Amino acid sequence: MTQSLAIIGGGPAGLMAAETASAAGIQVDLFDAMPSLGRKFLLAGRGGLNLSHAEPLDAFLNRYKPSQDLIADSIKAFPPSHIRAWAESLGVKTFVGSSQRIFPEEMKAAPLLRSWLRRLREQGVRIHARHRWIGFDQSHHHLLFSTPEGPLRVTADAIILALGGASWPHLGSDGGWQILMTEQGIGVHPLRSSNCGFKVDWDRHFIERFEGTPLKAVAGSTVWQGNVLQHRGEGVICQEGLEGGLIYALAGALREGIEAQGHAILTLDLLPDWSHEKIVMKLEAPRGKLSQKNFLRRTLRLSDIKWGLLKEVFKEKLPISPEALANSLKALPIVVTDMMAIERAISSAGGIDLEAFSKDLMLKRMPGLFCCGEMLDWDAPTGGYLLTACLATGRCAGFGAARWLKTVTVSA
Ligand SMILES: Cc1cc2nc3c(=O)[nH]c(=O)nc-3n(C[C@H](O)[C@H](O)[C@H](O)COP(=O)(O)OP(=O)(O)OC[C@H]3O[C@@H](n4cnc5c(N)ncnc54)[C@H](O)[C@@H]3O)c2cc1C
Repeated sequence: MTQSLAIIGGGPAGLMAAETASAAGIQVDLFDAMPSLGRKFLLAGRGGLNLSHAEPLDAFLNRYKPSQDLIADSIKAFPPSHIRAWAESLGVKTFVGSSQRIFPEEMKAAPLLRSWLRRLREQGVRIHARHRWIGFDQSHHHLLFSTPEGPLRVTADAIILALGGASWPHLGSDGGWQILMTEQGIGVHPLRSSNCGFKVDWDRHFIERFEGTPLKAVAGSTVWQGNVLQHRGEGVICQEGLEGGLIYALAGALREGIEAQGHAILTLDLLPDWSHEKIVMKLEAPRGKLSQKNFLRRTLRLSDIKWGLLKEVFKEKLPISPEALANSLKALPIVVTDMMAIERAISSAGGIDLEAFSKDLMLKRMPGLFCCGEMLDWDAPTGGYLLTACLATGRCAGFGAARWLKTVTVSA
């Protein structure tokens, strides 16, 4: 008898689970609430589709929090080099950028997604768009969907949930599954913004002048669990605060600071390529008739936005002595008061507690039900780590479900 596998969620995790299970000879039905699949994946393509990262695997695995064997093992089984080979097998060549990030040569998601869906159809995967999963009926083998034709009840021998996190909910993943899983007694850590911008109470004049301005060649740091976390990168000034890779990289630590004490301090080094001593030496030169702003621009090549930030933080009390001014340039404290809303975050932290799973991502208390992707409780910075974990856990759940179905058939 053919065993049926229902996969709910057609993002990268669900698609990879479908590819893996169907390649193992399992009949797969893939359901998604939206009219088309992979909408967030396509959005990620707008930023170039950073698929993975080429740093050494140990360093790569250290990016994931909480550090847990389950995620590490699934990535070790499908590491970045395999992701590159997989993309190439779909006709999409990748390259490693100067930052070690891995991108498709075309920097787009659409060609990869098209070719991927073609492969799935050829492998016999049946795709059911506009099918919103709304819960279980009697047991977790009976699924209830709302569809344009009305309610639908589907029975499956095994199920994989790949429902995503809760950022950009209009693309399909709205985190509605949290209640459905909590009702089943499954431990869920509430979804929160991750890789998100942070709020700063900018002065009205500052934001009128600098909204949308990129903040380039800076380093940011914050104290996290007694250690100083540092990252060099770029940010963007926005109405509500600060966004961009620099901030996303420190997001986990800033979020914990805010949760613990109501705010966090982001310390900016406005001149990361200049030593403190060199700055002091430059500042000791006579200023002549130059204004302080022009003096700093001329001696330190300080951009308008960096000057604007200095003034924003110190107002009229900007230090004058070379020593104190150098300290301010190397460690400018920005008070961040909150995270930006999850609707605009790149990803979400939180999700189903990893302790709830066996090693192939089956829920221990719901045999035959597997989960993968961003709905699990792991978090990572941008840099290709998110998609890598979604693809790797999708593959792990796909294999797990296929193995489980074959075992059940044999023992039945
Ligand atoms: C702007 C942006 C840029 C990004 N860029 C990158 C990047 O360059 N590199 C990177 O690594 N990551 C990036 N990400 C993150 C990455 O896209 C996500 O981590 C990834 O898509 C999550 O995959 P997933 O399969 O777990 O969930 P999703 O991609 O969110 O897919 C979940 C699917 O489940 C469906 N679904 C949800 N609930 C239901 C339901 N009740 N019934 C039926 N279907 C349902 C949704 O419609 C959706 O199709 C980016 C994210 C954003 C927002």
